[in-house]
Amino acid sequence: MTELILALDFGGTKHTAGLAARGEHTWRGRRQMFSPPGADADLDLAAMLSMGQALLSGQQPAAVGVSFGGPVEYSTGVVRLSHHVPGWENKPLRRIIADAFGAPAFVDNDANLGAIGEHRFGAGQGYDSLLYITVSTGVGGGWVLNGRPWRGHDSMAGEFGHTVVDPNGPPCVCGGRGCVERLAAGPMIARRAREWLSAEPERDTALRRLVKHDLAAIDAQAVAQAAARGDEMAWEALAASARALGQAIGNAANLVNPQRFVLGGGVTKSGARYWDAIRASARSAAMPEVHFDIVPAHLGDDAPLWGAVALVEIETGA
Ligand SMILES: [Zn+2]
Repeated sequence: MTELILALDFGGTKHTAGLAARGEHTWRGRRQMFSPPGADADLDLAAMLSMGQALLSGQQPAAVGVSFGGPVEYSTGVVRLSHHVPGWENKPLRRIIADAFGAPAFVDNDANLGAIGEHRFGAGQGYDSLLYITVSTGVGGGWVLNGRPWRGHDSMAGEFGHTVVDPNGPPCVCGGRGCVERLAAGPMIARRAREWLSAEPERDTALRRLVKHDLAAIDAQAVAQAAARGDEMAWEALAASARALGQAIGNAANLVNPQRFVLGGGVTKSGARYWDAIRASARSAAMPEVHFDIVPAHLGDDAPLWGAVALVEIETGA
């Protein structure tokens, strides 16, 4: 009998639900919606539950895997908090989902699930150890070690984004300074480029033309586009991000010695030169005896959703 697995991904701005059958690698159904402006946890939950019910259209899932865009206490499935949406603090998400669908539920954070998803279905297939890193508006990470997710003592392992690469660097949301997230995430790339262009108002660059002289319109994608057109100032804003990321990867390589680093998220679509800079920086930070490779994620935005499927398969013994 086909066992259906419902996968739910609560993102910062959009929510996605997918329906898969155990052992299959394609969606039987997939739906996505943007989180309404001013949403809180209860609104998002109600929207997600109805999206899940619509996908199931009366069928009973064997289990539900849930990705959440923030820290979750894994053993209880209780959300610690969301940086994006109010009202999530201490929500017993695992119990709520299990009750709503009448099926066992498993809840983990999106980066851990990205790691599990890439390991089972994507760029980590056949690898025993990897660190999955996502670089977008923030920087997250998740470990697979000995073929299993590694969550750490407080379910806080893989907080790669808050490893420090510059102790004298700018303050970070976590209370630290010079974290890799603060130096390498998309908003920082945009901010760096904006500051440099503001400081040289007469300088005509590809980036300035690209945003039609509206510096507020600069985002990391525009910086990458301008860099690809030979804009050296834009490239330097991107390269500073790549160097910080590579340095943190080199540190992680020395500490844990995984086979592979799998990088996803919007910022990692910044071109071959960006990837070369990450690899060079990581290589120079790691010891010569420590070997690894750094590759793009295969599953794109669906990595946490596939990770939710993989989590169910792991936890229910397939
Ligand atoms: Zn930090």
